[in-house]
Amino acid sequence: MHVKLADESVCIGPPPAAESYLNIPRLLAACEITGADAIHPGYGFLSENARFAEILEEHGITFIGPTSEHIRIMGDKIQAKETAKQLGIPVVPGSDGAITNEVQAQRVAKSIGFPVLVKAAAGGGGRGMKVARTAEDLDIALKTARAEAKAAFGDDSVYLEKYLSHPRHIEIQVFGDGKGNAIHLGERDCSLQRRHQKVLEEAPSPALNAEARDKIGMTVARAMQKIKYRGAGTVEFLYEDGEFYFIEMNTRLQVEHPVTEMITGLDLVLEQIRIAAGHPLSLTQEEVTFSGHAIECRICAENPTTFRPSPGRITYWHPPGGLGVRVDSGAYQGYRIPPNYDSLIGKLIVAGKNRNECLMRLRRCLSEFVIDGIETTIPLFTELVRHPDIANGTYDIHWLERHLGLKG
Ligand code: ADP
Repeated sequence: MHVKLADESVCIGPPPAAESYLNIPRLLAACEITGADAIHPGYGFLSENARFAEILEEHGITFIGPTSEHIRIMGDKIQAKETAKQLGIPVVPGSDGAITNEVQAQRVAKSIGFPVLVKAAAGGGGRGMKVARTAEDLDIALKTARAEAKAAFGDDSVYLEKYLSHPRHIEIQVFGDGKGNAIHLGERDCSLQRRHQKVLEEAPSPALNAEARDKIGMTVARAMQKIKYRGAGTVEFLYEDGEFYFIEMNTRLQVEHPVTEMITGLDLVLEQIRIAAGHPLSLTQEEVTFSGHAIECRICAENPTTFRPSPGRITYWHPPGGLGVRVDSGAYQGYRIPPNYDSLIGKLIVAGKNRNECLMRLRRCLSEFVIDGIETTIPLFTELVRHPDIANGTYDIHWLERHLGLKG
């Protein structure tokens, strides 16, 4: 769809990402051919690649995002945690730096207490992460996390963290102008997860009140002011028993950014472009207001029970509509979903005056959304939004897997 709508398009290579979307010389060539002077990196592929940002900087092309330096600091999760600590942001208890051997791992695990989580320093997408419930589990968790990290990121450095038993995933959206001004746009609650990957997101979080939001939001905004952060960023936390624990920072726009747009009335991509063009932030912290409630469902081309990918041709496409309803998607009737990429094919975002109205509207939208020819996760959402725990907002990051396990 984006190619059909674009004024100009350039072929950057064949479908395998390594030969096109991840191929920096080809992207530079496309800029040269079209005379493009800026690149918006989206939220996948090279969007958090410091080397890419650096190469664009060197070639006088604007990267619509932070500096390569900030991407680098936050891209390594061990360094990011250290930076967060220095900036006064609370972090999950864990190892100081990388784990180099089994003896050290056992010692650290004993001091923070089991269960522990082995995490990849270069991690992303939930890969390279293994739980060890006992000392006996730890050696094998270390080995498998390392192997997975090496295969996925070409870097097998790992670190240890306390494995939290019932946290919510709450993240703070921030914006900086690169000159020391930074604001926060509240939180998103992304606790509904499968395999450490987000499935549904909402804003505001059912678990926070205005005071808690303001406190953590301002802590993060002040930290971003200190490092003179530029552009959009998200600081991710686990939230358990009233305490926040930093896990990582994403130095880019996120898939779930629309829920923030719906409750703040701000266009986050426009804000990114404005900042990249050297404009100041379009509003002050005092001017940020939150109104109503928004929920996003990630519609994936997958079997809703087995989660097996379901690429193929969409034979019928009927999206829902109406007040407070937004469908972000490049799919349409006749479109063939390629097997080469992520299975996310669209996002259904619904807003309401309050959480209850939002949920009622979402139920209606899910029943109206028809996609034929492939399998999608719509039936899963249809079932989830009727569950009392979702309706009450009383779910943590382990809820969905427990629920799916019970059903299976
Ligand atoms: P990735 O970069 O791979 O997405 P994150 O560090 O952002 O990894 O964590 C992804 C998810 O993994 C979190 O939202 C949470 O569900 C789970 N997770 C991460 N750290 C912990 C922890 N210390 N305890 C429990 N769950 C965790």
